[in-house]
Amino acid sequence: MSLLLPALHTESDRTALRFGERTLSYRRLAAAAGETAALIGDSGRIAVWATPALETAVAVVAALQAGVPVVPLNPRSGERELEHVVADSAPSAVLAEPEAELPEVLGGTPRIDVVVSGEAETTTAWSLAPEPNAESAALIVYTSGTTGSPKGVVLSRRAVACTLDALEDAWQWTADDVVVHALPLFHVHGLVLGLLGPLRRGGSLHHLVRFSPEAVASALAGGGTMLFGVPTMYHRLAEALGSGPEPARALSGARLLVSGSAPLLPADHRRIHAATGRHVIERYGMTETLMNTSVRADGDPRPGTVGVPLRDVDLRLVDEAGNRISTDNGADAEAIGEVQVRGPNLFTEYLNRPDATAGAFDGGWFRTGDIATQDADGHLRLVGRKATDLIKSGGYKIGAGEIENVLLSHPGVAEAAVTAAPDPDLGERVVAWVVPSDPAAPPLPEELADFVARQLAPHKRPRTVHFREDLPRNDMGKVLKRALTDPPEETPA
Ligand code: ATP
Ligand code: MG
Repeated sequence: MSLLLPALHTESDRTALRFGERTLSYRRLAAAAGETAALIGDSGRIAVWATPALETAVAVVAALQAGVPVVPLNPRSGERELEHVVADSAPSAVLAEPEAELPEVLGGTPRIDVVVSGEAETTTAWSLAPEPNAESAALIVYTSGTTGSPKGVVLSRRAVACTLDALEDAWQWTADDVVVHALPLFHVHGLVLGLLGPLRRGGSLHHLVRFSPEAVASALAGGGTMLFGVPTMYHRLAEALGSGPEPARALSGARLLVSGSAPLLPADHRRIHAATGRHVIERYGMTETLMNTSVRADGDPRPGTVGVPLRDVDLRLVDEAGNRISTDNGADAEAIGEVQVRGPNLFTEYLNRPDATAGAFDGGWFRTGDIATQDADGHLRLVGRKATDLIKSGGYKIGAGEIENVLLSHPGVAEAAVTAAPDPDLGERVVAWVVPSDPAAPPLPEELADFVARQLAPHKRPRTVHFREDLPRNDMGKVLKRALTDPPEETPA
């Protein structure tokens, strides 16, 4: 198995990283990481205080060089969550930029400051320790905690390398690509795809530090070729398209616009396509599996899907009885099943959770917990999560995502989430949570319910519609459905 960062040209003056106005060439990155690696020594695990800064990137590269697993910490997480992560992962030290103020929970953990000096005289510090075994842990990343408390996912060097190389194939990703993003560096999206991706290709990353449509437009106009974002960012970009010609011009100049981590709003896809001629392509992955599917750079952009399985990823849909309902090529688009995957991209285990690890597999296949349909030619359409989004109503199985998409296509609806509520007659009933486009004039609940029933089927009609000012979301823009349980007032539809 190849090195994790084979493209790290330690003698090259090409820009490897840019965070805001600060840049680092490959030569200087190698020197800074080498110096930091020497301070890490052979720790057991090392935490990284993952602020969006050059120092975080250097810390991660240094630890990978030293062969020490990295536990990225979310600087914005609450005290309890951080306490859980620190206690669970028990890092032997924490790497941080010198200015960072670390919270009390890290008081007992030795701190190593990561200093990125202005000039690098030598690269002798950069000598790869013997390449660690491909199966050894590279990263321990905590899940987003959308459905429960975050789990530590142990990712091998092999899994990281394989997923990045499969994306090279799907996105025709090269050393000439400049990736632009403003993603956090404590989840796989920003960390694996957004940081290690460009480095593995020998290309570069332009991190915006702070997201704004203006910053995206200027980075793309200044040479960015690929944009990575979560749907809330594409939503803000779509809104900004009305403000003048620059954002549209910048977006149309990019080679690839990629969205992931949560469903892209179909209306945002349409608006961006109409203004720029470019499709935002979706890819689907998770902490445990890294990337599973993507729309390909040279493929069919089919909106509403997250593309086709990546190279070396086996994917199947399985019904509740455990029967496979897809073939190797695709499925009957009406049939909803759980997505299960197999391949070199899979994680090793949940840290300290042997039971959870064992329960997550079905004879070698990882149960993603996501539910989807698949087109006959393999394009995957996510309809939600098994735990929260599979609604069993009157003998039917309904995917929340399908109803959400129809609601979102109504002009009066800005955002929508669909959940299940217990119902004495139906078992469960469909409940819709809607943020109206115009809060002063929300659509009528019956109108929305009829709209859904007309476009889908009568049994998919929401029985209750709640209006809200916004939907509860986490850092990655994912709707926290567990927070949608305490309606202020029932509005029958
Ligand atoms: P937890 O596992 O702690 O509940 P989480 O599943 O949100 O949190 P992540 O591993 O960060 O944590 O997210 C993976 C999930 O994100 C996937 O299982 C899927 O539900 C969702 N997801 C990822 N990409 C997409 C996408 N393109 N469209 C829709 N959903 C997506
Ligand atoms: Mg999950």
